[in-house]
Amino acid sequence: MAGSSRVVEGVKRGIRLRCPQCGQGHLFESFLKVRAQCEVCGEDNSVFPADDAPPYLTLLLVGHLVFPFVFWAEKVWAPALWLQFAIWLPLILVITVGSLPFMKGAVIGIAWANGVTRSSARQ
Ligand SMILES: [Zn+2]
Repeated sequence: MAGSSRVVEGVKRGIRLRCPQCGQGHLFESFLKVRAQCEVCGEDNSVFPADDAPPYLTLLLVGHLVFPFVFWAEKVWAPALWLQFAIWLPLILVITVGSLPFMKGAVIGIAWANGVTRSSARQ
């Protein structure tokens, strides 16, 4: 598999929360905890580092998805501050927490595609 198509495959499998190696086993054993061993192919996906990239990408996504609407609503309607907090904070929280596993899956897929492991990152 060529380099970029392997990255695309890894990202696709990671976004689907599947093992990047086989695409069938579950990547996570709980919300954000990576399975030490894939139940289908046996790949150890916990060796692929995600670190701070998923939260960074999630904040980037939320910032670009939500904040244009926040500014637009303020410009057009200028709703009361309490109403803005009541709308935007839960929305931001749901999108942020909800997209975090998918971002982590994508990052692990990229690490898998490029052969980046925790031990290779330290060298
Ligand atoms: Zn697998």
